[in-house]
Amino acid sequence: MKTKFNYKGIHSCEAVVLCCIDFRFWRETLEFAENLSAGGLGLSNFDFPSLPGAAKAINERSELALGCVSVPCDLHHAKKIVIVNHADCGAYGGSVKFDGDAEAEQKFHEGELQKAKSIILEKYPDKEMILVYAKLVDDGENIEFIRL
Ligand SMILES: [Zn+2]
Repeated sequence: MKTKFNYKGIHSCEAVVLCCIDFRFWRETLEFAENLSAGGLGLSNFDFPSLPGAAKAINERSELALGCVSVPCDLHHAKKIVIVNHADCGAYGGSVKFDGDAEAEQKFHEGELQKAKSIILEKYPDKEMILVYAKLVDDGENIEFIRL
């Protein structure tokens, strides 16, 4: 297969969007990042790394996770850093860990995202950070992306 390369001679992108590897969420996260009219982020070019638990990987300060941010920032001049955590994330033990308390689960993920933000800002204090929680709503029929 051969396909068009859209970025010949281009080495910069707007942002990095870090999400979880979970097959149930990444496609919709990509859609959220690109979409503008339906309340998405409206980004047109960005690095899109995924690691189990997204913020979790940053909070563990693994070299791999930090590289998912430093490569976009240092090599691709990304100005925005987006981190998306999601409901029922297996890397955190899933929703069961919260006994079905969706509010407690959301609060927990908000804490994780804030922690990751502070770790990243230590190294990149002038980047714009966007924290997002992908929540399961409507009895698990839909994903709502909540920007903190
Ligand atoms: Zn996950």
